[in-house]
Amino acid sequence: MKDVITTDLCIIGAGPVGLFAVFEAGLLKLRCHVVDALPQVGGQLSEIYPKKPIYDIPGYPEVLAGDLIHNLMRQIEPFHPTFTLGERVERFEKLEDGSFHLLTADGTVIHCRAICIAGGLGSFEPRKPAIEELDRFEGGRGVHYMVRDPEAFRDQRLVIAGGGDSALDWTIFLAGVAKEVTLVHRGTTFRGAADSAEKVKDLHDAGKVNLVLSSNVSHVHGNGHLDAVTITANSGATTRVAVDSFIPLFGLTPKLGPIGEWGLDIEDDAVRVNTLDYSTSVPGIYAIGDINTYPGKLKLILCGFHEAALMAQGAYHYLFPDKKYVLKYTTVNGVPTL
Ligand code: FAD
Repeated sequence: MKDVITTDLCIIGAGPVGLFAVFEAGLLKLRCHVVDALPQVGGQLSEIYPKKPIYDIPGYPEVLAGDLIHNLMRQIEPFHPTFTLGERVERFEKLEDGSFHLLTADGTVIHCRAICIAGGLGSFEPRKPAIEELDRFEGGRGVHYMVRDPEAFRDQRLVIAGGGDSALDWTIFLAGVAKEVTLVHRGTTFRGAADSAEKVKDLHDAGKVNLVLSSNVSHVHGNGHLDAVTITANSGATTRVAVDSFIPLFGLTPKLGPIGEWGLDIEDDAVRVNTLDYSTSVPGIYAIGDINTYPGKLKLILCGFHEAALMAQGAYHYLFPDKKYVLKYTTVNGVPTL
């Protein structure tokens, strides 16, 4: 059994708003633990548009989404937040003393005194190809929709499917880790970056990657654990390939997921909050960023940052009802130096 993680405020979601909440809570000396279903921080900015410039962050005439996340991570470093990545929070339990247990799908338990949901559009769920009995091999039995730890694939025979950036990037990376990598793509040109497509073709020419175009993985085989896949060409020809793992990478779509079942006040797939402090209908649970709704709500990073500041004040008053906090500017309060 895993050790219980203990913190003051547990933040669900490591998108820009969840990360900035660590800063605002840190100024009030609240310790934070951040959980995200994705294996990396940054939410939509890392997953959907890391190279897109953003023009509406105060003080930055232009900033790449990936750089904004990098800077937010630097900004919160002095507060030493801890992270659980690649695990989806499934449910919460309110304990007798008013504190909470949050439980992830992988069995991690976080004991916290308040919860901040910064879950964005929800947790990203993989788009699964329509292959019969694929689910038989999920959960560590050979089919993986994300690469959490590349080392898990060392010396394996892999089939990767997809034509976007994830499929190309992981083909390139895993070519140096796995025993054999086959990339299967239904088209003849890739949607991902031209430079990455070029690298995959070079690896293929050098005999380090098998490239199967105009084809789909159509069947999965195995007894308990995956041991082969069938690749069907657009012409109808089929080939059976022995594999240890099959990694379909067809993108991720956000879904509100388990948070929708928590008994919170929900409207149009978003959590209703009180704009005084961004509290939800359950005392001690707050919701900020894209996941919340209130009259006039704008789904912008800027607005999420503002919500993070008020949420932190609200959580502080919830946790220390007898303490009077006097707002000071960061220069006066002092942010620890790096
Ligand atoms: P997100 O970035 O969505 O992060 C939420 C995180 O929570 C995710 O990583 C998710 O995995 C995690 N999560 C959810 N549920 C769970 C769970 N149960 N367990 C564990 N983890 C969970 N906004 C701007 O202000 N300016 C722009 O220029 C701009 N451009 C955009 C361009 C595109 C193409 C898109 C799609 C959006 C753009 N936006 C822009 C909107 C902006 O990206 C969002 O407002 C912002 O990402 C919201 O941040 P967030 O932290 O609330 O949520």
